[in-house]
Amino acid sequence: MAKKTLKRKIIGLVCENCGQRHHYTVKNTQNTPDKITLRKYCPTTRSYTTHTETTKNLGRNVVKAKK
Ligand SMILES: [Zn+2]
Repeated sequence: MAKKTLKRKIIGLVCENCGQRHHYTVKNTQNTPDKITLRKYCPTTRSYTTHTETTKNLGRNVVKAKK
């Protein structure tokens, strides 16, 4: 049976310009524990801005407790 470990977490990318979450990505939290910043397209300002990582209000990263 395949090993199901959830090391790759879903992270949101918050735009530094308008403060909205435009993009989502996954990252391995073991290999990259630091917050990542990526240059992504911002539809609000229609330009490429720096997006920083956030894990707030995602919910899907929560691992269910085993019975
Ligand atoms: Zn934006």
